[in-house]
Amino acid sequence: MKIRNPATAATLADVAADDSRAVRRKYLRARAAQPAWAALPIRKRLATIAAFRERVAALRETLARTLTEEVGKPIRQSRNELNGLLGRLDFFLAESTRSLRPETVLADVDGKMEERITHEPLGVIANISAWNYPYFVGSNVFVPALIAGNAVLYKPSEYATLTGLHIAQMLKESGVPEDVFVPVIGDGLAGAALLRQGVDGVFFTGSYATGRRIAASAGRRMIKTQLELGGKDPIYVCEDVDVASAAAAVADGAFYNNGQSCCAVERVYVAAPIHDAFVAAFVKEVRGFRIGDPLDEATYIGPLARRAQIALLERQVAQAVKLGGRLLCGGKALPGRGNWFQPTVIAGANHRMDLMREESFGPVIGIQQVAGDDEAVALMNDTDYGLTAGVYTKSEKRAKRILERVRAGTVYWNCCDRVSPRLPWSGVGHSGIGLTLSTYGIQTFTRPKAWHLRGA
Ligand code: NAD
Repeated sequence: MKIRNPATAATLADVAADDSRAVRRKYLRARAAQPAWAALPIRKRLATIAAFRERVAALRETLARTLTEEVGKPIRQSRNELNGLLGRLDFFLAESTRSLRPETVLADVDGKMEERITHEPLGVIANISAWNYPYFVGSNVFVPALIAGNAVLYKPSEYATLTGLHIAQMLKESGVPEDVFVPVIGDGLAGAALLRQGVDGVFFTGSYATGRRIAASAGRRMIKTQLELGGKDPIYVCEDVDVASAAAAVADGAFYNNGQSCCAVERVYVAAPIHDAFVAAFVKEVRGFRIGDPLDEATYIGPLARRAQIALLERQVAQAVKLGGRLLCGGKALPGRGNWFQPTVIAGANHRMDLMREESFGPVIGIQQVAGDDEAVALMNDTDYGLTAGVYTKSEKRAKRILERVRAGTVYWNCCDRVSPRLPWSGVGHSGIGLTLSTYGIQTFTRPKAWHLRGA
């Protein structure tokens, strides 16, 4: 499998992909190794994750460079992702023991009944991952899964293979046995081969289209299935905001990581009284973004990770313009080698456009004017996705009233494009099933076992 640099189309590496037989062998190794890993006291498993944290911190600059080279993420954003990873590891290190501790829910008084819950590992799990935040979306799964005593077959995205191999190497050097965390290398074929093994759970991050296939395949085997899928995340800007600072914050939420975040702002609704001023400030902000070599410290917008996305963005832009949208900046792929697309803003958007209802996953955003809160809420909910949604207003009461009515796993007041390890990360509808992060996202890698104990 060729690993290419999306900025230049140059080949970075040739890596051997796993065929079905190799995947089978890896599964059998993980199955054999898991019981001994689960039998260790939790403090020993935690010690390996603490050592992994040290490795990540020590190698941060090399890891950031690899991430930038293979995914195209601007170098400062790659560093941010690694810094964010350290915070997530700290959360799991601090919270896991308490979250996985057996609970006595009815005490044995005078030899009567005692009731207990223990948290048993699922066994061997498949972790099929995305490329856009490989350290975040991967570690949200494999770190708590390992701490809970599972073996993990980790399939990084084919667009983040080198990062996946770095992760496997660092875990090995940190004391996680080679057969307990096993990378499976390849594209969708390797992922499909992994799902044909007797795994006890599948934890997937990726698109809705692939998620549906994964769910169908896992459903036949009745295994635990979690899907973290796409989003079409809206922001509503009320008339009482400071226009310039709201425009700057929302533009960053839309264009950070070149719009390739599951929780990127994908559409904006603006209250009529400030609509024109907001659009002007927003476009000014976007025109100021520095596009260029992702290894350059000053770059804010790099290339798209995948070439195929360019055609999707072109289609969305062309359809939006045909349906009355006003193209205020960008709109085109940039010529030359690599996967480059201009940051694009379309005003006068409406819900007949795919731009406002289907995931774009790139540097393209639609802005629509609304008459008030009711119209904004109706439009925010007019999509099959439900990952995040946010509102900018000075009024906390108004924000809460709006956000209560929005169908999304995560809601934001005066912020956006934000994930916290302390809060559950989940989606509604086409955005997925299940959750990661928070203490629930530790317990999710276990099966609660109910103990009814009557003394003799
Ligand atoms: P994708 O669906 O193309 O691929 C995801 C993974 O699935 C890859 O590892 C791929 O090789 C594998 N795969 C593909 N076909 C498969 C098959 N038939 N069987 C098994 N595995 C298969 O998604 P992507 O392009 O890597 O990621 C982008 C998508 O992920 C976006 O929609 C984005 O919103 C979503 N995402 C969601 C979250 C979240 O937390 N909700 C986080 C990051 C990304």
